[in-house]
Formats: sequence, structure tokens, C-alpha cells
Amino acid sequence: MPKKIPMRQCVACREKKEKYALARVVRTPSGEVLYDARGKLSGRGAYVCRDLRCLEKAVKSRALARALECEIPDEAFAELRRQFEQQETEDGHGKE
Ligand SMILES: [Zn+2]
Repeated sequence: MPKKIPMRQCVACREKKEKYALARVVRTPSGEVLYDARGKLSGRGAYVCRDLRCLEKAVKSRALARALECEIPDEAFAELRRQFEQQETEDGHGKE
């Protein structure tokens, strides 16, 4: 039997992907919204494709706010964008 790969769904595009192909965003017990690079933060989590377009859609459509059951502060959104941009550069995909 092949090992079952954990799948998660992007809150923006609703695509199911392997857990590690998605970025995890967490609302911590203290109410902060953070990008969880290592998947280790505790709190309520939501998954978004490692793609700025999905992040923006998730925030603007309020899908992320619903998934985390809290408002996404502008500063948290700005920080998430920064992290996603950095990640895209590190992955070497570049811009389209
Ligand atoms: Zn997506």
C-alpha cells in the first residue's frame, strides 16, 4: 500500500495539494496572524498556495479571515506578502 500523503486545501483557490506544497498561516493563541514557515506554530491554521496571487485572494475575499476566524490586520498581510515574495525569490521561480 502506498503511504498516504497528507493533503491540504488552499483557502483561496480551493485546490488540494500536498501539505508541504502549501504555506501555513496561523492565528496564534495570543491573536497574532503569522506565516508559519516551519509548520510548527500552535494556533488555528489555514493553508494557502505558495503564490502571492492566492495570498491576496485569500485576504481580499476574506477566505483567510473566515478560516482563521479573525480579522487579518494590514500589518500581518504586509508581512505575509513580504514572506511570500522572499520565498518566490528563494525558490528561483522569478516573476512571470
Ligand atoms: Zn491557491
